Amino acid sequence: MEYPTNKLNMVFEFAENLIQPLFIVLKRMYCRLGWLEMLEEILSGGWSISIILGIIVLTLTAITVFTALFVLASLLIFNWKGKIIFPRIVLTLAGATESVVESILAFMGVGSEWLVKVLIRLRNTVGIRNFKKTEFTDRAIFVPQCIRHKDCPAASGYEGLHCVSCGRCSVAELKKDADKLGYKFFIAPGSSLVKRMTKKYSPHAAIGLGCLFEIKEFLELMSKMKVDAQGVLLETSGCVETTYSLEKMRRTMRQHA
Ligand code: SF4
Repeated sequence: MEYPTNKLNMVFEFAENLIQPLFIVLKRMYCRLGWLEMLEEILSGGWSISIILGIIVLTLTAITVFTALFVLASLLIFNWKGKIIFPRIVLTLAGATESVVESILAFMGVGSEWLVKVLIRLRNTVGIRNFKKTEFTDRAIFVPQCIRHKDCPAASGYEGLHCVSCGRCSVAELKKDADKLGYKFFIAPGSSLVKRMTKKYSPHAAIGLGCLFEIKEFLELMSKMKVDAQGVLLETSGCVETTYSLEKMRRTMRQHA
């Protein structure tokens, strides 16, 4: 095939060489020729670097797609039956193949929100046992600043916003309950505060309240920092006066084995 310029020609030739191994492998499978013979050919230098590179790329692609399909199947079963085998392995693999799983779901006409919701549920399920075992005084709560009243008088500081219990929103009630149990309570303007306070106070467990993608990030961060976490989703998202279920937060806070 002829391409417009020399450089383009080189790029397309290289791409052709990358695809070529697939056809060679398929041909050999079709003709039932031995893999050993193929390996001998590679080792004897009979194949160019680009062909070997092509085989490596194809092998890695096949492994990635297979892993993504395994993750997707596990998540579908979890979503349907509520059960999952090797949840921690699935979560690790899901992190590595998330974009591929998203592409497969998009091909099936399913939006990425489905994946995020299932991953949050899975992380909550995995974390709940150790979360319940943790004393209230070893736990922290992070809520987003968007749940405050728009005329909130709280001042911002190194440890986030300081609620003065003015009564304009339900944060005061939530904080009162959290304080009573012994939780460390933070109104976080962003994820950097969550990281900073987790490093400073080293809680063993934590609750995060936020929108879908904030909670996904929060649970991933807590997992990396070895904190057993629970994520609670906002009922309405946005930048100001978002809503949440106070009852759900209270129930999550009181979980104790
Ligand atoms: S109760 Fe707290 S968070 Fe809510 S508006 Fe008043 S000071 Fe702000």
